[in-house]
Amino acid sequence: VTDPVPTHPRPDRDAIESAVASLLIALGRDASSERLAATPARVADSLLELLTPPSLACTTFPNDDGYTGLVLVRDIRFVSMCEHHLLPFEGVAHVGYLPGAQVIGLSTLARVVEHFAKDLQLQERMTVQIARWIQDRLDARGVGVVIEADHQCMSARGAKAVGTRTITSCFFGALEDSPSERARFGQNN
Ligand SMILES: [Zn+2]
Repeated sequence: VTDPVPTHPRPDRDAIESAVASLLIALGRDASSERLAATPARVADSLLELLTPPSLACTTFPNDDGYTGLVLVRDIRFVSMCEHHLLPFEGVAHVGYLPGAQVIGLSTLARVVEHFAKDLQLQERMTVQIARWIQDRLDARGVGVVIEADHQCMSARGAKAVGTRTITSCFFGALEDSPSERARFGQNN
């Protein structure tokens, strides 16, 4: 199954470059100087890399052995970009589910995190998007996503809260009502 998630906007690379050059000028810098001349192109590359999600296919298998326990992939690393400040936030996602008639490929669980991370994001929205994407494709008895992330908009500016982690979670189905299973995602409530 190919990804039916809404298609991403198509960025205009040339427009990004000239916008970055304008930004440098607005910052009072000489955008044509030798040391900044290649910066717009590099920033465009960086942004496109951060904001272009890989295609996402959902691989499922019949749960022939009747496995009923929690399937949990912890510490899936990601980098995303905060839509409020255009600064990166990065961290780990813990993604799990309680299987029904099907199991999902484990690498699909990692890829779905990367897919939604590569966007202008809010951690809260990304958490729900990942959980919903899995729930919509898998006849699971429960789905859970916990994300722990460091936001540069909190550490490098504003509150200067260096070393803080923001934790968000989304649980559906049987996981919503099971504190013991939820605790295995690394969350203690
Ligand atoms: Zn922010």
